[in-house]
Amino acid sequence: MTVAPRPVDMILAKRAGAEHSAAELKAFLSGYVAGAVPDYQMAAWLMAVCWRGMTARETAALTLVMANSGDVLDLSALPHTVDKHSTGGVGDKTTIVLAPLLAAMGGTVAKMSGRGLGHTGGTVDKLESIPGFQAELSDEEFLAVARKVGVVVTGQSKDLAPADGLLYALRDTTGTVESLPLIASSVMSKKLAGGAKSIVLDVKVGSGAFMKTVDDARALAEAMVSIGRLNGRNVRAVLSSMAQPLGHMVGNAMEVTEAVACLRGEGPPDLLELCLVLAQEVLEAAGLAAPREALLAAVASGRALERFEDWIGAQGGDIGSLDHLDRAPEQWLLRASRAGSVAVVDALAIGRAAGVLGGGRSRKGETIDVGVGVELHAKVGDYVAAGDGLATLWHRGSRGLEAAQEQLSSAYTVADSATLEPLIVVRGIGADG
Ligand code: URA
Repeated sequence: MTVAPRPVDMILAKRAGAEHSAAELKAFLSGYVAGAVPDYQMAAWLMAVCWRGMTARETAALTLVMANSGDVLDLSALPHTVDKHSTGGVGDKTTIVLAPLLAAMGGTVAKMSGRGLGHTGGTVDKLESIPGFQAELSDEEFLAVARKVGVVVTGQSKDLAPADGLLYALRDTTGTVESLPLIASSVMSKKLAGGAKSIVLDVKVGSGAFMKTVDDARALAEAMVSIGRLNGRNVRAVLSSMAQPLGHMVGNAMEVTEAVACLRGEGPPDLLELCLVLAQEVLEAAGLAAPREALLAAVASGRALERFEDWIGAQGGDIGSLDHLDRAPEQWLLRASRAGSVAVVDALAIGRAAGVLGGGRSRKGETIDVGVGVELHAKVGDYVAAGDGLATLWHRGSRGLEAAQEQLSSAYTVADSATLEPLIVVRGIGADG
């Protein structure tokens, strides 16, 4: 029998750069989940991990401990289960487009998705801007919708990887989120517990992302692919740019509106492109390889939109409301002070602007305002004349308006010239395995 290490010894060992065994990590984490290890000791250990890192073996062991800390979904009765995870971006509404597109191509997306903690809501918050949409389903309802429609998305159950839920909340308040092994194990523990056989990871790079450089993003992607592989999953990763927000809409209901436009063939090209690339990667990993033209045809023919409507309807959402979702009544327009090319649209600042208007949460459980947000009229590379509108804040009068105006103004740089970065930075990570 393994004697559980004292928490202080775990902290001292990690502070000195030692490698923990799988048994030590299991005992330490189990002690934390059971309330026997206090937050302050776990926080000290997390900070030591931030500085000292973890070996691939430790990261894999930590992931498994967290994945097995609660329920593990059994999706084996469903055909071609596929899932996608994004490391978090501003204006990222890809799941809402991608999930029905994958279903239209023969995949089954039975997904649990987190509520947002940060500038804007998570996918579930966005979906809840559709009147009637039910994000809490029983296990039976979850599987029934997946079987019938091929898509179901619910809120992250507290019983799925609960150790990660506890740890993430602590990391969020102790400056210990930005650590490669902690992010990799957090993401992959949820993916492993979520049960899908094939997974595509969208790792964001740039000012609005955890990973600011391509090298860091690639290292994170490779670590996650390898954890997935070791656990029998088909995993691919893509690095995509978060130097500026995705699409033109940032804010919960506004993002649903834009996702619907994309499924109607009227979406912004960057959003569509990312969805096509992610779809191709995960479909190939799942043995359902489809050329780009077939995916475009699924959108052009309305098949993907039909899946979307069936999915939303099956979860109680009012399809008839999609063209008039809640939108805050007042607008404030940021204008260009000079003529030139838009050189920077800082994703983080745009996200903060939407957040301070009420579109995001600073504390768990806070209610969010789904109708506020930012509409971008100009993106990097666009030419603007002095006085042209750059972006509009949709707001409700006083709440956070001044702070949002400041954030929005600081987000834009207009210069003599602009350098356009590619949206897809690297694709196919894991394709050789
Ligand atoms: N997303 C997660 O799920 N976990 C992290 O640690 C960071 C981003």
